[in-house]
Amino acid sequence: MSTAKPAEISVFKRRESEARSYCRGFDAVFTQATGSEMIDAGGRRYIDFLAGCSSLNYGHNDPDMKQALIDHISADGIAHGLDLHTDAKAGFLTAFETHILEPRGMDHRVMFTGPTGANAVEAAMKIARKVTGRTNIIAFTNGFHGVTTGALAATGNGYHRGGAGSPLNGVTRVPYDGFMGDGTDTADYLEAMLADGSSGVDAPAAIILETVQGEGGLNAADAAWLRRVADLAKDHGALLIVDDIQAGCGRCGTFFSFEDMGFVPDIVTMAKSISGFGLPMALMLVRPQYDVFGPAEHNGTFRGNTHAFVTARVAIEKFWTDGSFQQELSDKTAILTEALTALSDMIPGARLKGRGLMQGVDVGTGGLADEICSRAFHKGLIIETSGTDGEVVKVLAPLTTPEHQFRKGLNILLDAARDVTETARFAAE
Ligand SMILES: *Cc1c(COP(=O)(O)O)cnc(C)c1O
Repeated sequence: MSTAKPAEISVFKRRESEARSYCRGFDAVFTQATGSEMIDAGGRRYIDFLAGCSSLNYGHNDPDMKQALIDHISADGIAHGLDLHTDAKAGFLTAFETHILEPRGMDHRVMFTGPTGANAVEAAMKIARKVTGRTNIIAFTNGFHGVTTGALAATGNGYHRGGAGSPLNGVTRVPYDGFMGDGTDTADYLEAMLADGSSGVDAPAAIILETVQGEGGLNAADAAWLRRVADLAKDHGALLIVDDIQAGCGRCGTFFSFEDMGFVPDIVTMAKSISGFGLPMALMLVRPQYDVFGPAEHNGTFRGNTHAFVTARVAIEKFWTDGSFQQELSDKTAILTEALTALSDMIPGARLKGRGLMQGVDVGTGGLADEICSRAFHKGLIIETSGTDGEVVKVLAPLTTPEHQFRKGLNILLDAARDVTETARFAAE
């Protein structure tokens, strides 16, 4: 049936735009994947600790999601329905309401945006501005919220901002928790700036933050700091937006990254793993009193990805109806912390970063982190870096990785780090 020639890597170099990125670090053509494993055209197997940058929290091709999708397609289920009522959308909304929102006491409405995280962030920023009649949005150092112009204004990364080609307006940056070192509580700074009408910071429509900064180097905010920021938002008439696109869907050990921290955001953005299957899907949760967009005011042709609704429903019904998956996540977090502590012990000055199953090690330089990841890839592990200079080796294993395979992947990472540090020591002697 297929007329495609066997995959050749030269076509990517010849024809694909220079904007390609992750693929540059992994010299292989991938053909198949199940669970936490990927296979390339040569039949080599890799453990996947990148997991679509946390878009594959339940692994590749989960058998139950796959079967539900096959059944849906085989029965001529709707493939595209704009935002018409479909049984697939009803199924997702009902599961999300019953197993996620109601048990957490959240009366938020669900707004489907265009299918990318950046589009959900755009919607969140726009609706906060509409609710408050203000334009300024407070965002934090090292925050990452996507690369469309509005979301990019809230993103800190200088490289991405440099690609905008136009002024990035409407956002005031303040230091994230820990940005000024251990001795400074940056919530004090934010409080002072907001309290003084002549500080030069306009009254904000919203404060947007990640509870753990995924792309920004796995900086994890303290719960007390987050509560203070939430209180400051309330005191100053601003909406609190938590961008849970990467940290949510179980990545931090609970469904939402902010659970059990003593505050509930006014708006939550979700994408990446919300479909469960790696399909494009994004949404915004908003408190009913702030659900102020008129019909199609924030529009989009693909505001409902019906195939993603099918798999997203299965993901919730399979993993989030009782506490057993959460217990598993807590057990795996302990394994991860232990392995990464061993890794950081190998490298002078290295630091553990992150929280839950979103942890990594700041090894000091992007060069060293790259060397470790590249050595790991040659040993059969796919893993990436994050942070200002890519100095953090970041583990984003599928949350469903079986324990033996999780340990195997972590051992490959430790071996790679040992190789690299020993080579460096030898060279220095
Ligand atoms: C990935 C990410 C985004 C952007 O999502 P896209 O689907 O790439 O547009 C926004 N915020 C956070 C926290 C992310 O990790």
